[in-house]
Amino acid sequence: MIVTLQSAADPAAVQRALAERGLWVRRLDGGDRVCFAVEPHSSSVTREALLGIAGVAAVAEAPSAHPLLDAQPPRVRVGAVEIGAGAPPVWMAGPCSVESEAQIREAAAALAPLGVRFLRGGAFKPRSSPYAFQGHGARALPWLRRAADEHGLAVVTEAMAPEEVPAVAAHADLVQVGSRNMQNFALLRAVGAARRPALLKRGMAATVEEWLLAGEYLLAHGASAVVFCERGLRGFDPATRNLLDLGAVALLAHVHRLPVICDPSHGAGRRELVGPLARAALAAGAHGLLIETHADPGRALSDGPQALRPHEFAALVGREVAHG
Ligand code: PEP
Ligand code: MN
Repeated sequence: MIVTLQSAADPAAVQRALAERGLWVRRLDGGDRVCFAVEPHSSSVTREALLGIAGVAAVAEAPSAHPLLDAQPPRVRVGAVEIGAGAPPVWMAGPCSVESEAQIREAAAALAPLGVRFLRGGAFKPRSSPYAFQGHGARALPWLRRAADEHGLAVVTEAMAPEEVPAVAAHADLVQVGSRNMQNFALLRAVGAARRPALLKRGMAATVEEWLLAGEYLLAHGASAVVFCERGLRGFDPATRNLLDLGAVALLAHVHRLPVICDPSHGAGRRELVGPLARAALAAGAHGLLIETHADPGRALSDGPQALRPHEFAALVGREVAHG
């Protein structure tokens, strides 16, 4: 924001008043009037509050690059579930891949009593190797839907290509755009055109601004809401699969006031770290968690090392696994 002073104003007094509001300002010289630029990382303050300072003539805001996102409320509704500021944290859980109808039914039955609201599982899988399991594709979507419906769960699952979006949108409550596709603009347009809520995972090398702009694409093309998901950035150290950026989670939750969840499973890549990072994400302001689980991780067709077993997931959410 640029604050322009009245010609008779005392610049030092105005600067003091701005500093008292926690703002970090820079004096701009050269014009007829004294101006102060309020640095973007200063505390959040409204234009009206600045206009109330004695000696301030005008406050100009740089036009936002993502006006639709700025206007999105901090809490959105996906089916019957509220996600965002003020709503209880939302648990999304399930296997990395939908491996069979029996497997996803078993997962839904195990997870629903633990407070999970969304069943996850990939039908279309983005795999680094063309020889790895690619997912069962469209035929797994009804398996996922039926399993979720049996237990009153919502569905979140990924579409990787524009032509997959109609089928995914017909079966899912929340259409997932994966990390590798965050800037696949053809896909963002197609997901928007489905006019459904979207879960936008952060690209593994994307800046926060690029992530927000991808969200703006979804809204500009018709998505009814965008929920952001931090899943870790590509780092230099293979000790963990990715670097989970909890600063970005806090930034979206507390400064941008947007619905944001966290995926510590892909963030960590190993199951021992999922619980600690999940708790850290909630402390940072995450409005929900996306967690991979598997009944038998050693036999999982993808991402076994990061999958929590049902009893480990139950321990994380503080519930007993139902027996019998
Ligand atoms: C997933 O959640 O299934 C997935 C593939 O995650 P990401 O896009 O974050 O790698
Ligand atoms: Mn996975």
